[in-house]
Amino acid sequence: MERITHWVGGAPEDDGTARTIPVVDPATGRQSAELTLGDADVVDRAVRAATVAQRAWGRASLVTRTAVMFRLRQLLLDEIDVLARIISAEHGKTVEDAVGEIRRGCETVDYVCGISAATKGEFSADVSTGVDVHAFRQPLGVVAGITPFNFPAMVPLWMHPVAIATGNAFVLKPSERDPSASMFVADLYRRAGLPDGVFSVVHGDKAVVDAILDHPGIAAVSFVGSTPVARYVQQRGVAAGKRVQALGGANNHAVVLPDADIAFAAAQIASGAFGSAGERCMAVPVAIAVGEAADPFVDELRRLAAAVVVGPGDRPGVEMGPLITATSRDRVVELVTQAVDAGAHAVVDGRGLVVAGYEGGHFVGPTVLDHVTTDMRAYREEVFGPVLTVLRVDTFEDALALVNSSPFGNGSAVFTSSGELARRYVHEVQAGMVGVNVPIPVPVAFYSFGGWKESLFGDHHAHGPEGVRFWTRQKVVTTRWPHQDRPVAASMAFPNV
Ligand code: NAD
Repeated sequence: MERITHWVGGAPEDDGTARTIPVVDPATGRQSAELTLGDADVVDRAVRAATVAQRAWGRASLVTRTAVMFRLRQLLLDEIDVLARIISAEHGKTVEDAVGEIRRGCETVDYVCGISAATKGEFSADVSTGVDVHAFRQPLGVVAGITPFNFPAMVPLWMHPVAIATGNAFVLKPSERDPSASMFVADLYRRAGLPDGVFSVVHGDKAVVDAILDHPGIAAVSFVGSTPVARYVQQRGVAAGKRVQALGGANNHAVVLPDADIAFAAAQIASGAFGSAGERCMAVPVAIAVGEAADPFVDELRRLAAAVVVGPGDRPGVEMGPLITATSRDRVVELVTQAVDAGAHAVVDGRGLVVAGYEGGHFVGPTVLDHVTTDMRAYREEVFGPVLTVLRVDTFEDALALVNSSPFGNGSAVFTSSGELARRYVHEVQAGMVGVNVPIPVPVAFYSFGGWKESLFGDHHAHGPEGVRFWTRQKVVTTRWPHQDRPVAASMAFPNV
């Protein structure tokens, strides 16, 4: 049985005595590896190695830092199929979808290949007589990321390229459910020439998260995961004096107006609901059909959902894989059952799906629930499964009010052919990322990613310009070079010329 270890000081690290947990293939339900779980001592060893490495890395030239990122980018592209298969085997998503995840993550590396431009400072000449001011940004030191299972490569890639390119050393605590992608990326950094200790991986559960949040040698933490843990991480990290951004869960709503191209909207929303088995923070689990859009929209969904090919993620032709754990599968089935018992209409019902040859897999088929109401748990909670709930309302205003009543505010989309209503929606919806006829409006990496309300705790969004600000701090320098022959008199009053 393969044993997955930490990565500290530029190499795998395992003292052989640690607690372990099984890593499970979601398509079969069978164990594929065992994972070493860290503790506060491992975190401390990683931080010590990072502290030493960061002293030199933080002073390395921009040319040196960007050269590593250019090599990392090429290695990610060269190894994309190998990494995609690693992701698919532990997460369950299709290999094709995993390739897409790596490409989207690699966009952040593209962005930091131009970190020299993104970190250019500011300069003002002669702010007072003979006095100039300039501002520039410096790394924070040793920083950390704590990431979820659903994008084992992309979400860490939102963080570490920006943190490292701006001169920090980075400690990653990936999800314990699909840890191997992070080890693969650690080795790519080694091959790219990153000095030992600048990138570390410490595996674990709450004990390691708490050790990171409490460690005085870590200056900042970026977290992505569910809302209750995001709230906890932000509060504990801030109490320990750290800068924290904590991206939480979501329940993204798409509104379909009667003037939309209904077939187009249904196809886009179905892909947003069932892609990656609905296990995306920007998935579209809620569709709000306005007025006469509802019947034709649901008819299209019935056809589309029934046609999705479900199976193991590495089988050619499969469009949707299993859920991450048996517990997740059982929870999704329970939420669907509760909704149906309360009056929702199961237009397509994925409960009880069995994939031949994969009877132990965590499969749920695509499910469409019509006539869902706001009191149902399947609507109120983040289902995180291949379930699309359809709510029917009469007007645009009703739809907007429903979207804005959600405690989450990650993404939202409107499907319409009216520029006027689209513009109104964009301006009035309470969400951090909005799509117009685009179901999953994940920003490209030279913008920043982040939601509103309970989808993000903290001030900065991830990657792009806000990522650069998050992983650095600004210094403002006021300079004067007095003339030897014209001495400047010191005054007790503020200078005003
Ligand atoms: P999770 O919150 O269970 O785990 C996230 C990380 O926190 C993991 O590394 C895990 O080990 C750790 N963790 C779990 N429980 C903890 C606890 N009690 N105390 C301290 N640490 C703990 O999330 P998940 O199930 O891995 O991922 C799915 C969730 O992540 C969904 O809610 C999804 O919406 C969210 N997500 C959000 C975004 C976003 O950008 N907003 C992106 C991806 C995923």
